[in-house]
Amino acid sequence: MRIFDPHVHMTSRTTDDYERMYAAGVRAVVEPAFWLGQPRTGVSSFTDYFDSLLGWERFRAEQFGIRHHATIALNPKEANDPRCREVLAEVPRYLLKDGVVAVGEIGYDSMTPAEDEVFAAQLQMAREAGLPVLVHTPHRDKLNGTRRTLDVVRESGIDPARVLVDHLNETTVAMVRDAGAWAGFSIYPDTKMDPHRMVALLDEYGTERMIVNSAADWGRSDPLLTARTGAEMLAAGFTEHDVDRVLWRNPVTFYGASGHLVLEPVPGVVAGEVPAPAEFEGSSVLRGARV
Ligand SMILES: [Zn+2]
Repeated sequence: MRIFDPHVHMTSRTTDDYERMYAAGVRAVVEPAFWLGQPRTGVSSFTDYFDSLLGWERFRAEQFGIRHHATIALNPKEANDPRCREVLAEVPRYLLKDGVVAVGEIGYDSMTPAEDEVFAAQLQMAREAGLPVLVHTPHRDKLNGTRRTLDVVRESGIDPARVLVDHLNETTVAMVRDAGAWAGFSIYPDTKMDPHRMVALLDEYGTERMIVNSAADWGRSDPLLTARTGAEMLAAGFTEHDVDRVLWRNPVTFYGASGHLVLEPVPGVVAGEVPAPAEFEGSSVLRGARV
């Protein structure tokens, strides 16, 4: 089973996770820029974080045989803090960098006027940069939040085929598919979706434009739940071809629209062998890093 995890916050995870992910078949990931838990108070906290996603974390992933990409944006929660909104001026130059495959996570947290403004502004940045968009749907009032999200996407004029609406469940999947956008599902140990419910949705809606991620972060989460979902699909009678579509070809098609995916195997990685620590050489030239 080859796995592309299209939403996982590896900055919050350990090297044990990278090793277990590689062993389970994960060969590529996308790490969306998000809220770090501790509120940020200024622009440089964001730019240091963005640089770390594009430099250090990419390097760290490659040491474990995993290709790492990022999405860049001001997240919905911090869109409400005027000190954080100043980072919007910096986002467009990050969208041009190697390894950036989308604008994200953008969307709504509490559906405030500030969030409206920041969401719309970043959709335009995506259009200008020719990049796909990763949209987060709110945890509270998900139904209304998703409906309003789709309205804003429609008003922006962006092609819905370049929009992935994430953290969906049984109540929100149909409207996202009807809008022509990609449907994303975060498989969690005890909230959001679980592998069993996910398989039922794939049974009902098919595998086209359906994307599964672990959304593993600093909370209770598990980066192997993509693999578990693949195993449950096989047990339920889906073919290996179906599993490969959901766990690899769909996210590759979606994020491949950026032109920035790197999917060749990392040279020199041997499964089951613990890699030796290598030296980080800076934030720009990381391809073919020593392992
Ligand atoms: Zn996330």
